[in-house]
Amino acid sequence: RAKSAGGNRFEHADAEADARAITRHGLTTSLPAALERGEFFIEYQPLVHLADGTVHGAEALVRWSHPTHGVLSPDRFIPLAEHTGLIVPLGRWVLEQSVLQARAWQEELAAGTFAGPVRINVNLSPAQLHHPGLVADTVEVLERIGLPPGSLCLEVTESALIGADEDLLKPLRQLAEMGVDIALDDFGTGYSNLANLRRLPVSVLKLDRSFTQGMQQHPADPVDLKIVEGIVSLAHGLELGVTVEGVETGAQAEHLRRLGCDTAQGWYYARPGPPEMLHTLSMADAV
Ligand code: C2E
Ligand code: MG
Ligand code: MG
Ligand code: MG
Repeated sequence: RAKSAGGNRFEHADAEADARAITRHGLTTSLPAALERGEFFIEYQPLVHLADGTVHGAEALVRWSHPTHGVLSPDRFIPLAEHTGLIVPLGRWVLEQSVLQARAWQEELAAGTFAGPVRINVNLSPAQLHHPGLVADTVEVLERIGLPPGSLCLEVTESALIGADEDLLKPLRQLAEMGVDIALDDFGTGYSNLANLRRLPVSVLKLDRSFTQGMQQHPADPVDLKIVEGIVSLAHGLELGVTVEGVETGAQAEHLRRLGCDTAQGWYYARPGPPEMLHTLSMADAV
């Protein structure tokens, strides 16, 4: 009977949805213990200057080495951590590890055994932005470890700041006044009011990967080229730097360099990896 066949199909879809919900629930409940057991680790992806390909810094990207599911990407667990509030202690851990790593790189730089990177980018999610301890925690970590505030860049997504009022912007403003860079991540996806940019304490726009994708084909998408050209001129007019994400080919890098973007990040240069990877890269710069 057609009806029962349809019923089965729906039962099947339900079963899959149930399985996903069970996994999500399991992951959510095991998050706090995972933090205590040290199951999270950080990969670093270099940011390079488009003009000459030298390393400018690195972005810290968290992963979860789950005992049964294997290595999980942040898209699988950050939303869960965000939902339960675990993102606050997890984010503090990511910040501390990243600042320690940047400090270690700076010491090696001073000793002449390493050519960079000396700057570190750390992602902040909306719950961290709303947490009252953000400024104090950040200052505490920077002072205790001894990293100059100017070596840290905090990345906040454009969507997290849409419609942000002064209360939400105040901690970011305080951090920016101390010299911490604030980057607007995934820029161009959030439909924010461009005039609003002047109000935000940001110093860098990180153009979303969707723009760089249009430059992968030959010839490049002329509309994407025009849009990026416009964003770069707006950003530079407001004295903001422009970083591009998701650069996968040399042709993309060349387009973005010609359009005046400042720094880039993507598989063309390096995939996210262990901190040692940055040594190999910057040694290659040096020769
Ligand atoms: P994001 O901050 O926009 O980071 C860039 C993402 O693009 C990373 O994904 C990176 O691995 C990926 N990527 C880099 N180059 C390329 C490329 O050439 N091609 C493609 N297709 N992808 C590229 P990942 O590591 O899976 O992270 C996803 C998102 O999770 C991040 O997006 C960020 O929003 C969030 N996230 C990661 N770590 C943290 C963290 O410590 N705290 C918070 N709150 N969020 C984090
Ligand atoms: Mg980011
Ligand atoms: Mg991004
Ligand atoms: Mg992104």
